[in-house]
Order: sequence, then structure tokens, then C-alpha cells
Amino acid sequence: HRRIVLASRPQGAPVETNFRLEVQHPPQPAEGEILLRTVWLSLDPYMRGRMSDAPSYVPPIAIDAVMGASTIARVEKSRHAGFKEGEWVVSQNGWQDFALSDGRSLQRLPDAACKHPSWALSLLGMTGFTAYMGLLDIGQPQAGETVVVAAATGAVGSVVGQIARLKGCHVIGIAGGAEKCHFAEQTLGFDRCLDHRDPALAEQLRRYCPDGIDVYFENVGGKVFDAVLPLMNPRGRIPLCGLIADYNAITPSTLPDRLPSLQGALLRKRLRVQGFIINQDYPHRFDEFIHQMAQWVTEKRIIMREDIYDGLDNAPKIFIDMLEGRNFGKVVVRVAPD
Ligand code: NDP
Repeated sequence: HRRIVLASRPQGAPVETNFRLEVQHPPQPAEGEILLRTVWLSLDPYMRGRMSDAPSYVPPIAIDAVMGASTIARVEKSRHAGFKEGEWVVSQNGWQDFALSDGRSLQRLPDAACKHPSWALSLLGMTGFTAYMGLLDIGQPQAGETVVVAAATGAVGSVVGQIARLKGCHVIGIAGGAEKCHFAEQTLGFDRCLDHRDPALAEQLRRYCPDGIDVYFENVGGKVFDAVLPLMNPRGRIPLCGLIADYNAITPSTLPDRLPSLQGALLRKRLRVQGFIINQDYPHRFDEFIHQMAQWVTEKRIIMREDIYDGLDNAPKIFIDMLEGRNFGKVVVRVAPD
């Protein structure tokens, strides 16, 4: 039974010594409990916030505690009437081989994920749900409008753009590098994808958004937001989902303080910027989401690129790389054969 714990809090970008691998005997379930074996581990940017004790929308992980994470697991042993050995569940095992549960926080694998269990961590799980609610409930895209999405080939962004296409929008992605941009255009069907490393990003955006931007799905912040803001149309909407460009910052941003001009733009253009935290704001709409997304997946109208890695021991490095943009799609780790 391997487990990866938080050894120390990162200063800036996490490094491998912030994590520690421990090996122990697997825990044994008491009456009413289940022993779960992790098969798929989800690695997500929000975990960077949990490694820190700065104020965040997620509580910090204690030093020496197991890194938290959503997982797809199999019931290894059951002393609980509601669960049978071998069953699949969506659980919160964290970065470890085994975990105990009393069953209360477990969800059944959605039917649509039975052939592809790891999709319950992405397209048919948290990141797909985030894309769906953020875009449709907050972004309110209308056919013919221009939607721009950052981190466009990532777990959330790739789904945002595909849903926006289904709604008849003109979709511009922003991603890191030519290969990701090519994928967004050729495989995900975006109208265009621009490289945020290109010094001419603002100019390129202006060129490919000739009618301005109606919805900007914010995953990134920083320079990308700076390029987008001047192009926002009056009554534009900005679902504020994440600000990954700043997650590793030690000191507050070194960008000049342009709060007055930002507020001026929000006022003049009557923009609606709304932050949201999927697990807190939308649990009551998960059934609606899963029903619709399962249909789109069955009809092959939305696809998912997963970035699959093997081995729990590699999780720290894979996570560090993801924060640097070295992932290409939803990052999942195969902890045990499925
Ligand atoms: P991704 O799969 O998109 O992976 C992260 C990506 O962020 C990287 O691949 C990289 O893509 C991009 N990135 C990293 N650093 C920078 C930077 N400095 N500038 C521009 N892009 C950068 O992750 P997710 O889809 O899981 O998450 C996307 C965002 O959504 C995150 O901000 C996350 O915190 C947020 N989120 C929020 C939720 C909520 O409830 N509010 C729920 C889930 C996610 P590239 O190479 O293209 O730059």
C-alpha cells in the first residue's frame, strides 16, 4: 500500500521534495466499511491550492497527510450491505493505493462511463461538469456569438469549446504551442486556436475576433486576460473558472496595478464576471449535466483527449509538469490495471 503525502509546502512551483512516498500495510475495513483499490487517479490544478495554506476555495492539506484527489476505484473488500466486491465507484481516495470508506461520499460510475471508467473523472465527471455549467449557466452563449476559451486543449477548456461549437458559436481557443493549437482546430473543431506564447497574441485575437468577444471562459488569467479584455463586447460574460497562470506565484502579480482601468472596462461594457466553484455551486444540476453529456458522447459530438500516465510513484512529477502546461488533455494516472 503506497501513499504519497505532502512533505512540505511549496514556495512557488512545487518540486518533488514537497512530496513523500510511504509504504504501509493496507487498512482493513471494519463492519459497515469498504476497502477501495484506486485504479484511476485524477490530477487537477486545484491541488496546487490545497498544498498551500494561503486562503483558497479549497482547504489546505495538512503536512504529512495524503494528497487528496478524486479517483475511480474498485471495491476490494466490502463489509457494507450496499457495495459488492469488484464494483466500480467514483471516490476521493487521494494519492494512494487503498482507502477506507463508509460509502457515504461514494458515487456509482455513470452508465455512460462503464466502457471507459476514467472518463468519470473528466468528460463525464468534474471537469466536463465545470465546462458545461460555466459555459451554459454563466456564459449563456447564443448562436452566432464569439466565444474565447483559455487552456483550450485542457480538461475543461476542450469541452467548453466543443459545447460552444454545438451551440453554433464562433470559437477561438488559446493554448500553449503549435501542436495543441493544431489539435484544437483539426480534432476539436474550433474555428481557430492561438498560441499564448506568441508575442502578437493580442493582435492575432483582434484579427480572428472581428466582431469582438461575447463570452470569455477564463481558466488562466494574467497576460491572456489582458489580451482579451479590450475585445469584450458590451454585455459580454466572463465565467471565471480558474487563474492557473498565478497558482505558482509567490508574491502578488508583478503586472502593473490597473484596477481602475479594469473597473472602468467592466462598467462601460457592462460585463458580467462571475466566479464559480463547481462542487459548491452546482451539485443540484449534476443529473441534468450527465444526461446531456452522455448523449453527446454517445453521438460522438464531444470527444475527450486523455493524457494517461502509469504508476502512482510518478504522480508528483506528472502533477508538476501539468502546472507547467506539459500535459495535453485530461491528466489521469493508472494506479492499478483496470
Ligand atoms: P488543464 O488540463 O487545462 O491543464 C492546465 C493547463 O493550463 C496547462 O496544460 C496549460 O495549457 C495551462 N497553463 C498553465 N500555465 C499557464 C500560463 N501561465 N498561461 C496560460 N496557460 C497556462 O487543467 P483543467 O482543465 O483541469 O483546469 C483548467 C482551469 O480550470 C484551471 O485554472 C483550474 O483551476 C480551473 N478549474 C476550476 C474549477 C472550478 O470549479 N472553478 C473546476 C475545475 C477546474 P497550455 O499549454 O495550453 O498553456
